[in-house]
Amino acid sequence: MARIAVAGFHHETNTFAPTPACYEDFVAADAWPGLTRGQAIPGAVAGINLPVTGFIEAAREAGHELVPLLWCAAAPSAAVEADAYERIVGEILQRLGDAGPVDAVFLDLHGAMVTSHLADGEGELLARIRARFGSDLPVVVSLDFHANVTEAMVRHATALVGYRTYPHVDMAENGGRAFRIVEQLLAGGRIYSTLRKPPYLIPLTWQCTLAEPAGSLFAALAAQERASNAIVSLTFTPGFPPADIAECGPAILAYATSQEAADAAADALEQRVLAAEGAFAGRLYAPAEAVAEAMRLSRSGTKPVVIADTQDNPGAGANADTVGMLGALVAADAQDAVFGLLCDPAAADAAHRIGAGGSADFSLGARSGLRGHRPFEGRFVVEAVGDGRVVGTGPFYRGTHMQLGPMACLRLGGVRVVVASRKQQAADQAMLRHVGVEPTAAKILVLKSSVHFRADFQPIASHVLVAAAPGPNEADHLKFDYRRLRAGVRLTPNGPVQRPR
Ligand SMILES: [Zn+2]
Repeated sequence: MARIAVAGFHHETNTFAPTPACYEDFVAADAWPGLTRGQAIPGAVAGINLPVTGFIEAAREAGHELVPLLWCAAAPSAAVEADAYERIVGEILQRLGDAGPVDAVFLDLHGAMVTSHLADGEGELLARIRARFGSDLPVVVSLDFHANVTEAMVRHATALVGYRTYPHVDMAENGGRAFRIVEQLLAGGRIYSTLRKPPYLIPLTWQCTLAEPAGSLFAALAAQERASNAIVSLTFTPGFPPADIAECGPAILAYATSQEAADAAADALEQRVLAAEGAFAGRLYAPAEAVAEAMRLSRSGTKPVVIADTQDNPGAGANADTVGMLGALVAADAQDAVFGLLCDPAAADAAHRIGAGGSADFSLGARSGLRGHRPFEGRFVVEAVGDGRVVGTGPFYRGTHMQLGPMACLRLGGVRVVVASRKQQAADQAMLRHVGVEPTAAKILVLKSSVHFRADFQPIASHVLVAAAPGPNEADHLKFDYRRLRAGVRLTPNGPVQRPR
């Protein structure tokens, strides 16, 4: 039996997004639990799709003693404030020191955290753990599919292992993968690492593993891992492009029982990723074009057409408050259309005061102050209100006790708007049902999400279209003004190269 310390600290940083993450954003619960300490952690994360959950289950089943330290996550946004980072990292280190001797550390991290004072939040956390607790302590890290893996992370962690699905339906499973690496290290195994950084950025929208080429790449990764006893773990992280840091972009990471085996495994996977470059592509619709196409498609079908409002995806750091797609729906007089989740606490509050059945003039969205964005003005009927306590039912959010603050369903003509007070990616049907919207009965569903919605909504949709209404998660990276990204990287698959700045 071993003593294993467990901690988690998640943030995905869009350096082009409008709003930073402060300490309170990590303390508050949203779709995931709020900041949780010590022995309260296993209960707080039990049964949900998180790496820490899968790790705890696997380690307990194997009879190990766990020392939970601290777990927290904040919604993706602009940089984490230095104050928040230092308080949380300080407490993790303090608690690890106070825990007494441990045999290993498991960290549930994202891998794309930028702070107001650091380009690589996770690399710095790992460096501080090494500096204080020595180079022999096994430190194994679960990383998000969207990690921008850095050399510092690889140097200071014993091993890093990433999710293999987008939508991330394997987060808990990834905790199990990390646990198996810990076991191998505890048994005295020595492992060697190889990191490769393919030289092109992959738009989030085309990273989906339910589509090609990502589906085949991850199938090949798993087969390659199974085929060799020398390979301990293989990871491919397609990366998080809206992050202006030198080491932004995809990574391939191999761990093996010899350096030669790690190099060979990384080479083979890298060749596949390089060969797939041109296939990371798809069609982006302008807002009016997406609505027109959805109206045309929905005439002949009985299932809804889903439109991804990808550029305002709060799961990629946006604020879920742009109204470009709402304007397009109303302008086209779309019927049986649903738009959500729009984050607008003032509108939700007003709807609660008016109450279901009442109507009023609303000024919806555009709370972030993004240049060129204006609220959508109109007279809406309040159809329903809710307290925002939603239990996830889809494959991604299943079992999570979301706290989205006061919610409402507002109607203007044939368009209903689902409003929430906390921003959260529209990736679970329960979020709409909470305010009386039955998603399977709609003709058009416009969802603020890039890919995660597909886990729960693709099965009920006849078609999925991706629309590019103005927002801070640009699907076309050429619209980002990268200043720190390393030179030589292609900004899009087979696209122009980043010049030295
Ligand atoms: Zn992710």
